[in-house]
Amino acid sequence: MNDNLLDSTLVDQLQRPLQDLRISVTDRCNFRCTYCMPRAVFGHDYPFLPRPDILTFEEITRVSQIFSNLGIRKIRLTGGEPLLRKNLEQLITQLASLNNIEIALTTNASILAKKAKALKEAGLNRLTVSMDALDNPTFQLMSDADFHVEDVLKGIEEAHKVGFEDIKVNCVIKRGVNDHALLDLARYFKGTAVTVRFIEFMDVGSTNNWQPKEVIPAQEMRDTLHALFPLEPVPGSYLGEVARSYRYQDGSGKVGFITSVTQPFCQHCTRIRLSTDGKLYSCLFATTGQDIRTMLRSGASDNELQQAITRIWQQRNDRYSEVRQIESRNRKKIEMSYIGG
Ligand code: SAM
Ligand code: SF4
Ligand code: SF4
Repeated sequence: MNDNLLDSTLVDQLQRPLQDLRISVTDRCNFRCTYCMPRAVFGHDYPFLPRPDILTFEEITRVSQIFSNLGIRKIRLTGGEPLLRKNLEQLITQLASLNNIEIALTTNASILAKKAKALKEAGLNRLTVSMDALDNPTFQLMSDADFHVEDVLKGIEEAHKVGFEDIKVNCVIKRGVNDHALLDLARYFKGTAVTVRFIEFMDVGSTNNWQPKEVIPAQEMRDTLHALFPLEPVPGSYLGEVARSYRYQDGSGKVGFITSVTQPFCQHCTRIRLSTDGKLYSCLFATTGQDIRTMLRSGASDNELQQAITRIWQQRNDRYSEVRQIESRNRKKIEMSYIGG
């Protein structure tokens, strides 16, 4: 069957094709970013998932194969901090054996320098590194952990050395906390192969005390950057792309803005998420997931699993970011560290 036909076969209620799978390989993290896992909530006694509840590599690979049959072309490994999952390279090797799937990873890069080579050798195709400041005081204010900007930069450098191209950097901007990271990071990576994407602080989960006044709209970030380094828009390159891309007019690279709050992109959302314990979530802002692990562990055939996943996608009508004003009150949303960012 031709690839395009496959891609367009399975659509949801809003005619959106299923294209991307995000897998949370652990709900644990060595950072406590205030916008994601605030320490007051994710403290010493936080009930992280016990080992038996976590999908094994074999289970993840089996589900991924079924998604591949259904037409997905991209898997992103995330978490929590995915590099904390023991032997992650082994999972990547297994996923790399699936046909025609690009494998990407999002990481805080705290231990990337040590891991980059093994990740590359295992078959990882793309890397996104999160960093919210270029100076240590602000970096630590955002991440609330004892790591340094230098650890992250070393990770990026090592990743380049072992052959990762087009590395992306994600930076969440919170008004009044790391506003200056916008220009710092743009200036630092301008003229390199790294594309920085500035993310609007989102009301994901239920613990980060999100306030609209702490969001800097992407338009404002773009204007600030444009005043210093003139930008021009780059047309979107594929359906489901979440960042609005711009290039520097002087030819020294690109930046992106992820505008989930002020300019939602639900109409083109082609992603599904698999949580660490095997639930499927059809929206980042979901309140409930659909259990796949029970089926996996009770002898369901591939065909039965494929039918269950097909039904989940066909019934999907999520568009939270478009209806945020009405929906956000009273919604008990799942945490991003568990569902996978
Ligand atoms: N630990 C890895 C990392 O930080 O790159 C992967 C998981 S993390 C949940 C994935 C991405 O979600 C990160 O780039 C992070 O900045 C982003 N993120 C988490 N909470 C967010 C929020 N409230 N608003 C915007 N982005 C958020
Ligand atoms: Fe950890 Fe990533 Fe969440 Fe920060 S954003 S707490 S690094 S999972
Ligand atoms: Fe997709 Fe839900 Fe985000 Fe909309 S709010 S873009 S449907 S994950």
